[in-house]
Amino acid sequence: MRLSRRQFFKVSAGTLGGTGLAALGMTPNIAKAEVRTYKLLRAKETRSVCTYCSVGCGMLFYSMGGKPKNSKAEIIHVEGDPDHPVSRGSLCPKGAGVKDYIHSPKRLKYPEVRRPGSDKWERISWDEAIRDIARLMKDDRDANFIEKNEQGTTVNRWVSTGALVTSAGTNENGFVTGKFLRSLGMIAIDNQARVCHDSTVASLAASYGRGAMTNHWCDIKNTDFILIMGGNAAEAHPVGFKWAIEAKKKGAEIYVVDPRFNRSAAVADYYAPIRSGSDIAFLGGVITWLIENDKINWEYVREYTNAAFIVHPDFDFEEGYFSGWDDKAQKYTDMSSWSYDLDENGHAKIDKTLQHPRCVFQMMKKHYAQYTPEMVERVTGTPKKAFLKVAAKLGEHSKPDKVSTILYALGWTQHTTGTQTIRTMAMIQLLLGNIGMPGGGVNALRGHSNIQGLTDLGLLSTQLPGYLNLPKDSQDSLEKYLAETTPKALRPGELNYWGNTPKFFISMMKTFYGKHATKENDWGFEWLPKWDKSYDIIQTIELMRQGKMTGYICQGFNPLAAVPDSNKTREAFAKLKYMVVIDPQETETSVFWQDHGEHNVHTKPENIDTVVYRLPAHAFAEGYGSIVNSGRWLQWHEKGADGPGESKGDAEILSLLLFELRRLYKEEGGACPEPVLNISWDYDQPTKPSPEEITKEQNGYALEDLYDANGKLIRKKGELLSSFAELRADGSTASGCWIYAGSWTEEGNQMANRDNSDPSGLGNTLGWAWAWPANRRVLYNRASLDRYGNPWDDKRVLYRWNGKKWTGFDTPDFKVDEPVGSEMSPFIMNPEGVGRLFSADKLVDGPFPTHYEPMESPLDENPIYPKTKNSPAARIFDRDRELLGSNKDFPYVGTTYRLTEHFQFWTKGAYAAAITQPEQFVEISEELAAEKGIAKGDWVKVSSNRGYIKAKAVVTKRIKALQVDGRTIHHVGIPLHWGFVGVARKGFLANHLPVAVGDANTQTPEYKTFLVNIEKISA
Ligand code: SF4
Repeated sequence: MRLSRRQFFKVSAGTLGGTGLAALGMTPNIAKAEVRTYKLLRAKETRSVCTYCSVGCGMLFYSMGGKPKNSKAEIIHVEGDPDHPVSRGSLCPKGAGVKDYIHSPKRLKYPEVRRPGSDKWERISWDEAIRDIARLMKDDRDANFIEKNEQGTTVNRWVSTGALVTSAGTNENGFVTGKFLRSLGMIAIDNQARVCHDSTVASLAASYGRGAMTNHWCDIKNTDFILIMGGNAAEAHPVGFKWAIEAKKKGAEIYVVDPRFNRSAAVADYYAPIRSGSDIAFLGGVITWLIENDKINWEYVREYTNAAFIVHPDFDFEEGYFSGWDDKAQKYTDMSSWSYDLDENGHAKIDKTLQHPRCVFQMMKKHYAQYTPEMVERVTGTPKKAFLKVAAKLGEHSKPDKVSTILYALGWTQHTTGTQTIRTMAMIQLLLGNIGMPGGGVNALRGHSNIQGLTDLGLLSTQLPGYLNLPKDSQDSLEKYLAETTPKALRPGELNYWGNTPKFFISMMKTFYGKHATKENDWGFEWLPKWDKSYDIIQTIELMRQGKMTGYICQGFNPLAAVPDSNKTREAFAKLKYMVVIDPQETETSVFWQDHGEHNVHTKPENIDTVVYRLPAHAFAEGYGSIVNSGRWLQWHEKGADGPGESKGDAEILSLLLFELRRLYKEEGGACPEPVLNISWDYDQPTKPSPEEITKEQNGYALEDLYDANGKLIRKKGELLSSFAELRADGSTASGCWIYAGSWTEEGNQMANRDNSDPSGLGNTLGWAWAWPANRRVLYNRASLDRYGNPWDDKRVLYRWNGKKWTGFDTPDFKVDEPVGSEMSPFIMNPEGVGRLFSADKLVDGPFPTHYEPMESPLDENPIYPKTKNSPAARIFDRDRELLGSNKDFPYVGTTYRLTEHFQFWTKGAYAAAITQPEQFVEISEELAAEKGIAKGDWVKVSSNRGYIKAKAVVTKRIKALQVDGRTIHHVGIPLHWGFVGVARKGFLANHLPVAVGDANTQTPEYKTFLVNIEKISA
């Protein structure tokens, strides 16, 4: 029945009321124009955290279904969480479009296998997949397990199968992944940190004692000056960048130093260009400028750094080489001189006048004397005037009441000198007195949502949870391992917190091996694999290429896209017997054997015998647990939906594999079965451990009643620990990751805390989530006050001494009852107690950062050290050295980076992101475009000596030619998000181009600088 509006009112006014009409099914059309039911009214709301970058924005999911037996909960809407202290309701384009990622048509739904030589997937059951994979793993392990090395030392390692661990999975999945892999003796383990921020961990730990972002997102608002260098926070961390804008609104200035005038530069007060790969020359120049212009916080430097420490008499540096270089061996063979001059008590000698010719300050001054403004301009291409402006601006913040901060990311980490680049800035911030200060610090902006957590959990070749080292070959007993990894204080009165290493390690072993870890068997020490070298991803791919590996497990990681020199990676994969891909969506890695034309170098499936299993995993929205943002906040998130098809959570998948392997070992025996059988897996549902159980295991609990030194009972057997201060080295406590102790206590789940109040106004929301360590928000915060407890700046007070203890708005990063004026210094993780300007023996390429050219350099020699072009400590395999390009054939500097609209190689499977940035492109300057006859929108081919990509050219004013060492240098900017799988237009993997070489300390690949050529092509 259709009624006009006039007829409707006529009827309504008659004997039939509107209600009666409705009841008769005669509701007029006009009713449709009335307010509809709020679409989310019946939806279930759950709280989550964005799965992409490490800003960790709060998200609210709205889902329907899931209650009736045969229905699944499905997310129908996502929005920002207005209560979240960092994001305050904001989401960037990626986060706002995350529903398209969750519902991507590229989601995997069923286990599948690709048989040798086949060109298609076959659907199989979970039972079949688990049974077949376990069989392959066991056969390989039994055949290739190394029980003893050539010296006869028990090493119990399995090298011929490796694993890559996801960067967005929860801590809880990560912890059981680590237990599973180590129980097998696997050592070729790596994660996303290797290709992103491993250099950060190495450099900041070597400088301050912990390898993490010193401050946190909201704290950026407290600064007076922000230098963005080696990163592009506005583009890569868009919501976190709001805190830089907050600082700017309060009067802070922002300077950007970058090869491109990027999105951060667009809102900055000043921009200076720089040649990619020359940052140490720039920052070394800043050190010299600060010293020459007396822009040093002298009291801070004298009291809180090792400037006064006397260096070993044999330490030297000449022509780019430190003492200990062996020319014949072409490596550093003796680093004993990279140390302090010690007194008879083993304490470092010091000279607080800083005049001793061998004190760190004088040695540092000498080291950087050559880094003059003129040399900076010559090496970096930054005009001298621009360099001086940046140096002078930093120098202003040496005043105790002025604070500057630094925001950086992969523009610094991804170089052969990445660790040392960050070190240089870490030194500058010590010279300026900006570490420990609200608004200060060295802010390493982590890339992935939980790569901080998965690094904390030790999912790297030579690491264990809580930044403990996996024992190496030569550490053939627990006693030796602990003796070599437990430092002694290098000055009287220092806290030297790593002195507690035995408590951390033995408590971790109790979570690994439970009742099987006993004092008599050294807590299962023998079962841990011992390493002979780092099996980082570059090393592992090289071993595969040489045919020395059998299997590879890729969990939420896409190495064909993520590892340098994709053609080498593909060649390596084709030599494997088996590969297991555990992922929520289709990746290039899982289909490396498919023919995708020139996008996958015309690969022929019939020539590849690798059997590939593809297991569908839950995405972040379909599980729950904790993830850690860049500021070290452990944030708990809830489950919003059920996974599609037959997908499962990672913990369940690995548990099923473990129990199948155990079944095989029990029935058949085999190589070293004890760790596989003894790894502790006492969960309520052993094949489906719950995040609650695992996270409590990470936190730790008492295995016996615990008493303090006065005999007072402080913790009953079975109770959760409240902090790492309760840990014991006698097997009476268990704690999977000591730095997480305190995250889930007898008072409940601290990571789920949601009080966003900020009583100090400094953004220290101690009641929101929980930060490691001990809920400290600003690391080294004792350094925000002088030795006598006076704040350097009354506007930036985190806590004070109240006569009995330190108390205020942050957890003191210090012994809480250590009185003012004592000898104890603020860098409690360093045995020196102070920040390191001289990193002693902590890094493989020297105690002072030094400028070396990138492995592929546009220059013929290093202008500062003509006899030493590249980092002498960088590792490069023969095959990769042969493929280095020359600057004659490849004259331009290629550099890769991220775009706001995409996340790595994930979002090309999401429609929203594919629409906003649909097509691959490269950026070149107007000068280079004119030189090569390239117009905006032309197709171009960008080649290196390893491969090529084809893309559209964006000709831009954002990149300019630079004058470097008498020649013109051009950059080619290459966004990295495209590939041949997804819903976006097909593109080329950007990693066809870079060299397979990494940072000398961490092997983080040199993605930011490699040599390319560019030419115009027809479409
Ligand atoms: S990608 Fe990063 S900035 Fe964007 S919504 Fe997610 S967490 Fe926030």
